[in-house]
Amino acid sequence: MRNLRVLFLSLLFVSCHLQRKGDVLISNTNIIDLETGAISKGDVLIRDSVILTISKPNTLSFSGIKYIDGTDHFLIPGLWDMHVHIQDSTYLSMFLDYGVIGVRDMGGCVISPTDGCESVCPEMLNRWKGEMEAGKMDGPKLYIAGTQLSGTGWPTSFPVATKEEVGYAFEKNVQAEVDFIKVYEKIPWESYREIARLAKQYHLDFTGHVSEPFLLSNILDLGQKSVEHILEPLLYSFTDDPSELENFMVADGYTEDDRKFVQPWIEDANNVLESFKKNQAWFTPTMAVQYARLRYKDTHWIEHPERKRMPPSVNAGMKQHLTRMLNSQDHKGDSLWWQALTKLVKRFSNENIGLLAGSDAACEGGIPGYSLHEELILMVEEAGLSPLSALQTAIINPCTYFGLQHNGKVQEGFNADLVLLTENPLENIRNIHSIKAVFKKGKVVRFSQEDRNE
Ligand SMILES: [Zn+2]
Repeated sequence: MRNLRVLFLSLLFVSCHLQRKGDVLISNTNIIDLETGAISKGDVLIRDSVILTISKPNTLSFSGIKYIDGTDHFLIPGLWDMHVHIQDSTYLSMFLDYGVIGVRDMGGCVISPTDGCESVCPEMLNRWKGEMEAGKMDGPKLYIAGTQLSGTGWPTSFPVATKEEVGYAFEKNVQAEVDFIKVYEKIPWESYREIARLAKQYHLDFTGHVSEPFLLSNILDLGQKSVEHILEPLLYSFTDDPSELENFMVADGYTEDDRKFVQPWIEDANNVLESFKKNQAWFTPTMAVQYARLRYKDTHWIEHPERKRMPPSVNAGMKQHLTRMLNSQDHKGDSLWWQALTKLVKRFSNENIGLLAGSDAACEGGIPGYSLHEELILMVEEAGLSPLSALQTAIINPCTYFGLQHNGKVQEGFNADLVLLTENPLENIRNIHSIKAVFKKGKVVRFSQEDRNE
């Protein structure tokens, strides 16, 4: 009897303590632990922007607060897309529609939308960021690169042929309040070293492509935090089997000169894996954008209804890209290249090298938000990762990458940036489409009346 009284009093205390206008309760739901894949049932109470408490299922009932029945649903932390180019404010809302609560914008500086492969200038992105923080606009958390540093002479990037130019590029990007520095290609070695030095001095990470002809292991030793896309110096790490590499080169028509040119990268291939581990560097394979080159007949993707929400120039960019690919004389080479790429992703995953999910939307027809789902599906169905490993690249790894200690878990005291799904994504990664609700900073920002699963 005494025990019952204690229980009653403590429940009363918990209720009084917990109930407050503005709270959100997700009851009786399946909570997925993205570190282990374990699923537990519980009631999740959100206050302000944080998960206040998680109790046993159906133990918390409240009146006067927002209540979502999570029965038979699955709760995961919000998704991140670690490689995007935002050209239009519409994208911000599209990301949330697909449960993407954070993005890393990989830079550019265009004034108005182009083909989709570059971002608008950092001043504009920061303006949107401010409006989102003030609650005047809808969208994900943004980390931005600003104008990229490049040796290619591309007009909307900073040239970095000399140390002075590197200094100028840093100054301008710092003035524009960027979060990190993006390097592109063809950067001379002395400039690369200067980038690494200034990055340290300004406490900014530098990330991006790989400048040929340098060895990737040397670039990683300079401190480049992530490598974007499968670029040629990286490609030779796809296998540790020399005969497989030989077959690839024969089938892809490598000449003696080609072989001579790539020989240093082949020799560096095993160092590359070690360098990633030693430097705790990350790899963003951007499978979704690479896959676009094989999709010239995929009408579901080409005519996706979401394209109506995107700027016409971006859709035109996709059509041009697909026409180029359709007319390509080397479809066999393309599919071989794709196979090598998927093997590389699997090999890196097996070796526990940190992978980041990044779609590169809206380059080559990527659809903000939707393409991140595709990235995860490709990781599972093409590269052979488990759904859990794929989800980690869009949830846990981005939080670790940015050092966000209270994100990436459904746990008391953690930020309530969450996605509620009607189907289990660990059973089938395509269930990532089955979004019931999206929570950003504890607020229900999306809620679907019907259960949908594409
Ligand atoms: Zn990109």
